[in-house]
Amino acid sequence: MLRVVDRIAECDDGRHQEVLPEARTHIALHRFGGPTLPYVHDAAGIARFYRAHPSYTGGQMPYSVVIYQTREYGPIMVEQALPISEVGPHALRWSDEAIGVAVLGDFRKAKPSFELWNVTVDICAALAFWVNDNVSEILRGHSELPHGSSDPDKDCPGELGFPMDKMRVVVTNKVRWLETKWGTPNLDLKRELQLLVMGFEI
Ligand SMILES: [Zn+2]
Repeated sequence: MLRVVDRIAECDDGRHQEVLPEARTHIALHRFGGPTLPYVHDAAGIARFYRAHPSYTGGQMPYSVVIYQTREYGPIMVEQALPISEVGPHALRWSDEAIGVAVLGDFRKAKPSFELWNVTVDICAALAFWVNDNVSEILRGHSELPHGSSDPDKDCPGELGFPMDKMRVVVTNKVRWLETKWGTPNLDLKRELQLLVMGFEI
């Protein structure tokens, strides 16, 4: 069972920039890691970093969901940092449309562990139930979004660790499996998932 921990109170700055659920049409996968970024432990650490450096996002938490491995071979944590209807500035003009999911680490240089990869697949699949189950159309790495970054050479989340073509195939398979369990996505299920996957089983 995958449990998503509610860290919204620690991460959301309280300024509301909400969109209608229907406006969320994509999922964007990011890394949070690299030489220009500090080492942080969790979603609250990311939120503190952006709060302290308002030149990046105006001080706002960019990501809705944060995934990380607590230590080598340690358990995987999934934290919800923003409500699904709240826009975090994570991909310029795509921020309204795409739900931002960040994985801690520099995946340009390292591959995720098997467990971290699997949990990321599970979360993307669960979110695809909210957004649209046509994964090949809606799941994108940050760098794949046209004009989604001010840095044209950005490699996010990192082709080495998260090759997006492979992710889309694996997430599609997971969605098909979830559909055998939950049925096809419908509005009731989406409402249930509005506060994301808290406590729900994958
Ligand atoms: Zn990114």
